[in-house]
Amino acid sequence: QAKRAGRNTWRFYTEQMNANAVEQLQLRTALHSALENDEFLLHYQPQINLASGHVVGVEALLRWHWDKRELVPPDRFIPAAEESGLIVPIGDWVLREACMQAVRWTRQGLPELTIAVNLSAVQFRRGDLERSVVRALSLSGLDPARLELELTESLLLVDTESVIETLRRLKSLGVRLSIDDFGTGYSSLAYLKRFAVDKLKIDQSFVRDIATDPDDAAIVRAIVSMAHTLKLQVIAEGVESEDIDRFLHIFNCDEAQGYHYARPMPGDALAEWLVASGRGSGGRDKKRRDRR
Ligand code: C2E
Ligand code: MG
Ligand code: MG
Ligand code: MG
Repeated sequence: QAKRAGRNTWRFYTEQMNANAVEQLQLRTALHSALENDEFLLHYQPQINLASGHVVGVEALLRWHWDKRELVPPDRFIPAAEESGLIVPIGDWVLREACMQAVRWTRQGLPELTIAVNLSAVQFRRGDLERSVVRALSLSGLDPARLELELTESLLLVDTESVIETLRRLKSLGVRLSIDDFGTGYSSLAYLKRFAVDKLKIDQSFVRDIATDPDDAAIVRAIVSMAHTLKLQVIAEGVESEDIDRFLHIFNCDEAQGYHYARPMPGDALAEWLVASGRGSGGRDKKRRDRR
């Protein structure tokens, strides 16, 4: 049977592979001019404090409006941007744009939300990350305590010496650090503690089935309680239902993010959504003010 289908299947795969290869090549070429052509934009996804139901922060998620034709999601171009090193200038743009948007919202009278920005390991290796962060903060005037940098476990497992040093300096600027996709790597909580991390983001793969899978529920419950013992905050990623939200409440998880609350959206839409949803009255410590 497999043999009979063989020839056609092979041809299908080859054409498919060629199409993908061609697309990858076009994409890589186009990526080089995307920054100067102003083709990047950020979408923002709310992060909900579970106890109050209020939005306390947003995560900035990069989108590429390729040739003004289609909106390309990051999974399709970040690997290429990392290989070419373009992630360094792109990452700088993301930092600046996210900080400026956070200040814009505050000027519009919205609560003072935390803004979380994803970082690539390449930005640590090939860029001057500390300088980029300092510049984004001073250009925007954002209170450093409102900026959260999302790192991956894999970053912390390599290059340890220089990464620790950079993270130490970033922390001394007053920014916060979180571990993205927590649980998918091999690091222990005790190990992470050495990096002065503030928050763990539990990966969606653990969160998805907590309402039905006792093992996943046990894992999430254990992560939350261990994190709290180490004085780390915890946010659950990819929350898609009311059931999951309920379990997270029971497990004493601090925050949640996912389609159940809101999808990532453009900055203006987020401002409108905050007001319309009634989830906007929170924010962090209201007494703190941005520098301008
Ligand atoms: P991430 O940082 O773990 O971001 C969460 C991803 O899950 C986002 O995908 C978000 O849209 C999606 N998501 C949120 N809620 C739900 C949900 O309830 N269900 C499901 N199925 N998905 C949900 P997105 O925007 O496509 O980003 C994918 C990844 O690309 C991010 O994963 C992050 O690793 C990377 N990325 C995004 N923006 C940047 C950036 O500016 N710089 C770097 N270096 N990486 C970025
Ligand atoms: Mg993230
Ligand atoms: Mg994640
Ligand atoms: Mg992810």
